[in-house]
Amino acid sequence: MIKKEKTTGYLFESNNDDYEKLREEYLTLARRIGQYDYWYHSKDDPKVSDAEYDVLKRRLLTLAREYQLGSRHVLEKVGAEPSKKFEKVKHAFPMFTLSNVFSEEDVEEFLIRIKKFLNLDKEEEVDIWAEPKVDGLSCSLRYEKGNLALALTRGDKITGENVTRNIRTILDVPQKLPLNTPEIVEVRGEIYIKLTDFEKLNQKQKKEGKEPFSNPRNAAAGSVRQLDPSVTASRPLNFFAYSFGEMSEEVAKTQKDVRVKLNDWGFSLPHPVALCKSEQDLLAYYYKLLKRRLELSYEIDGAVYKVNDIKLQERLGVVSSRPRWATAHKFPAERAITLLTKIDIQVGRTGALTPVARLEPITVGGVVVSNATLHNEDEIRRKDVRVGDMVVVQRAGDVIPQIVEVLKDKRKGNPAVFEFPDHCPVCNSLAIREGDDVVLRCTGGLICEAQAVERLKHFVSRLAFDIEGLGDKIIKNFWEEGLIRSPVDIFTLEERNKSTLTPIRAKEGWGDLSEKNLFDSINNRREIELNRFIYALGIRQIGEATAKRLASRYSTLETLKKSMIAAKDHESEAYADLISIDDIGPAMADDLIGFFAEGHNLEILDGLVKHVTVKPYERQQSVKSPLTGKTVVFTGKLVKFSRQEAKARAESLGAKVAGSVSKKTDYVIAGEDSGSKLKKAQELGVTVLNEDEWLELIKG
Ligand code: AMP
Repeated sequence: MIKKEKTTGYLFESNNDDYEKLREEYLTLARRIGQYDYWYHSKDDPKVSDAEYDVLKRRLLTLAREYQLGSRHVLEKVGAEPSKKFEKVKHAFPMFTLSNVFSEEDVEEFLIRIKKFLNLDKEEEVDIWAEPKVDGLSCSLRYEKGNLALALTRGDKITGENVTRNIRTILDVPQKLPLNTPEIVEVRGEIYIKLTDFEKLNQKQKKEGKEPFSNPRNAAAGSVRQLDPSVTASRPLNFFAYSFGEMSEEVAKTQKDVRVKLNDWGFSLPHPVALCKSEQDLLAYYYKLLKRRLELSYEIDGAVYKVNDIKLQERLGVVSSRPRWATAHKFPAERAITLLTKIDIQVGRTGALTPVARLEPITVGGVVVSNATLHNEDEIRRKDVRVGDMVVVQRAGDVIPQIVEVLKDKRKGNPAVFEFPDHCPVCNSLAIREGDDVVLRCTGGLICEAQAVERLKHFVSRLAFDIEGLGDKIIKNFWEEGLIRSPVDIFTLEERNKSTLTPIRAKEGWGDLSEKNLFDSINNRREIELNRFIYALGIRQIGEATAKRLASRYSTLETLKKSMIAAKDHESEAYADLISIDDIGPAMADDLIGFFAEGHNLEILDGLVKHVTVKPYERQQSVKSPLTGKTVVFTGKLVKFSRQEAKARAESLGAKVAGSVSKKTDYVIAGEDSGSKLKKAQELGVTVLNEDEWLELIKG
């Protein structure tokens, strides 16, 4: 019989012989390992070989896991008390996500894009490494002088959470690397739970009256993000390695070499893999993997293709946090049939009215689905979706579930056609379509509660201000109580709370500690990078990547604001400058200019800067080069590089690449058959370089 103790693990009632024996074995082993640790770490005099130590450690962790014995020792080993929250640590190199491909044509396009970027002929072969896409959560393990020093989750890609204590409890994460590995080694991979272990874990959850996990990935993620490492230790986690982060020495020239090295260093690796030379090879691999999917002991959700040559990977680089040199070929979406019970209209932060289908809960690909998006009014009409219909629901990866079709032959009677509202269901303002936009929008603006609340949720969300303590429910609640009505209120909340008769700690569900935690989490974010700040403003069409581009172009909030106000005049240089930024077209420019033209938005900005420091944008690779801070324009056909690679290279050397020539342009790089841009450069006296001169300039 096991009785759970509060934070330190499990206690035993000694009426069970087997448990007693196991407990005895466990305690003896724990003491023995403790002594070995002491000799190894404190005396630098190992008493057993690494292999012998590993066998003992494995047995200890098996006992801990299988019989729930180990928490105390694990706690001692990983550092006493559970932590209050995870420390945030910047990754040495950002942890990227992957672009996705779904069809054979997409795979072909992926290869064409790569060859085009590298200026290769269509017929030329590029080796592509293929491996399974394991469905877990990614983790970066940093080894210093061969010892595991830090384990971080991906977090927001730039900064992760320090989960080292928890990761140390995973059996196939080596604590030490063999001798002669580089001084700094970062191994990236996926933490996952095997299918059979997942079943057992859920049975245990049920037995203990706890909610079962919806799928192995959620179970793995939940287990890693436990503040008490003893809980993590009791979960059956595994780790597969697939790539490197920061390395103090080059140890691999190809993706294949990376795998060989990881294998040599004792990491577990996913199977099967293949080195492919063509689209046909990739597809053959994909279909083989799809077939073998059910035989694998862990969940995979597709294949990952990576350019094999690491030098080529470096040339291809990364765009919007996704490497150009890799992609995930996702398995087909999973589908299921269920009843549509209701259609609700949700109002987003930009006023868009989105219909949401409420469904009788159904499991699709291991996840329980009870809502699906219906996108917009046209979509409902096109699919003729009605309340009471049986519908086919589809879910692919992390994408929001969708209604694929209505099973018309299962329709009972003649249910009413869904009437899309012409007023906002929240503030009752008129809802209209702008131009040929398919989306109906509430015109309530500032008076619409739904928009205001959604804007606040966006403002504190992970990629924006990232204020953990302000969850969706709290935002809504504080809005209703009038405590937070605008982003500025978030930062004055603590001051106001001091002089009120009804402080937050006195509210239902709150106390001194939770109030303190809330203010701590707000105060931690009083300094923010410009790109996050721009994204947080929630300007229509301005997503994470565009916010970064704007931050990179304007560097400070003051310059951005001035330039957007000046750009109101479409004839101005500020406007020309704005639309010369890659990917910013006239519609996006109008949304930006429109935002900065509204008095109440400027009031919010002015209010915010009184409480928040917006840090000037720092380029990721702040390399000093002859191009740092210069504005360059490419024109004509380059021979040695594709235009895309030339631009990417210039940007990585600190240059701003513009689409049109102005007085501010520093260099125009003119390839063959240059036209009007070259002429304009000559008129304005801008330095013009040919391809070779440009290469000479960037050579160093
Ligand atoms: P997604 O989360 O859908 O953007 O896919 C990107 C994630 O896939 C990465 O961040 C990894 O966590 C995960 N992944 C799983 N297997 C692999 C693999 N073999 N190579 C790279 N990433 C992988």
